[in-house]
This record gives sequence, C-alpha cells and structure tokens, in this order.
Amino acid sequence: MVNCRFVSEITSVCNSFKPNIQELERLSSQQSARRDQKKKQTVENCAEHNLPLGYYCETCCEALCSDCAMFESKHQQHKFKKIGEVYDKHIETIKQETTLLEKRLDELNFLVSSVDENISRVQKAKEERSIELKKAYNEMQEKLASELEKKLDTLSSMLIVFVLIYRSKNGYF
Ligand SMILES: [Zn+2]
Ligand SMILES: [Zn+2]
Repeated sequence: MVNCRFVSEITSVCNSFKPNIQELERLSSQQSARRDQKKKQTVENCAEHNLPLGYYCETCCEALCSDCAMFESKHQQHKFKKIGEVYDKHIETIKQETTLLEKRLDELNFLVSSVDENISRVQKAKEERSIELKKAYNEMQEKLASELEKKLDTLSSMLIVFVLIYRSKNGYF
C-alpha cells in the first residue's frame, strides 16, 4: 500500500505541474509573438525630445534619446549603452531561458508519462490480485460446503445406527 500512496502523491504533484506547464507554454508563445511584433516596429522616439530612443541608461533601466543622455541632469554620471546592444543581449537571455524551459518541459512531460505508465501497471496488478483472491475465496467456500455435506452424511448414518442399536436393546423388533 506504500507503493500506491507513493504513486498517488506523485500523481498529485504532477497534476499540480500540468497547469504550470500550460502556463509556461502560453507565456512562451506570447513572448515570441511580442518579440516578432517588436522586431517589426521601428525605434520609438523620445516623448520629450522627439528623437530616436537609441540609448539605454543602465542606472535607471530606461531607454533614452541622445538629448536625454547628454543634457538631462537626472542621468548625469549614469552608465549608458547603445539600445541595440542591450536589445540583443536581452534577446539572447530570452532565447537561453526559452531553451531551458523547453528542456524542463520535456523532462516534466516524460515524468508525467512514466507516472501514468506506473499507475496503469499498479492498477492492472491490483485487478489481477483481486481476481485471484475472489477465485481462492470461491474455491475455499466450495470445499467447506462439500466437507460440511460429508460430515452431515456421516452424522445421519451414525444416528441411524444408534437408533437401530437402541431399538434392538429395548426389544422393539
Ligand atoms: Zn529624450
Ligand atoms: Zn539614468
């Protein structure tokens, strides 16, 4: 029974994974859709200076135009990078994470299928044992019934003999 409990625990863990896997798949497809959309878009302009957002302030984590980077006091002595560089780096990180997630997804799918296989194996074994037990029970019952019948036969013949002896001793013939 420990095995069964183990299997049911694994099953419930895997079931709790299933929605997560769907969620991951959904997020990953959303992410790639968003990425494709972003690629098609031209570089946005700065709302304040109406210049292309060609730079990225690493300190504030925001995209800037050249005027923002050079003249805004807010970003004085901050660290900048070209937006293309940052974008490519982010794309690379997303690619790596997606690959890792896909690998994990494969592992989880494999785990789920092997657990399903185990469950059906355990269920099949359980059904077989149950059939064996029923068969043994029926055989035992038949054996007991026939033994009982035999004993009753013996008892009734003994009773007849006793009656005959009793009658002959008391002169009933
Ligand atoms: Zn600007
Ligand atoms: Zn800044």
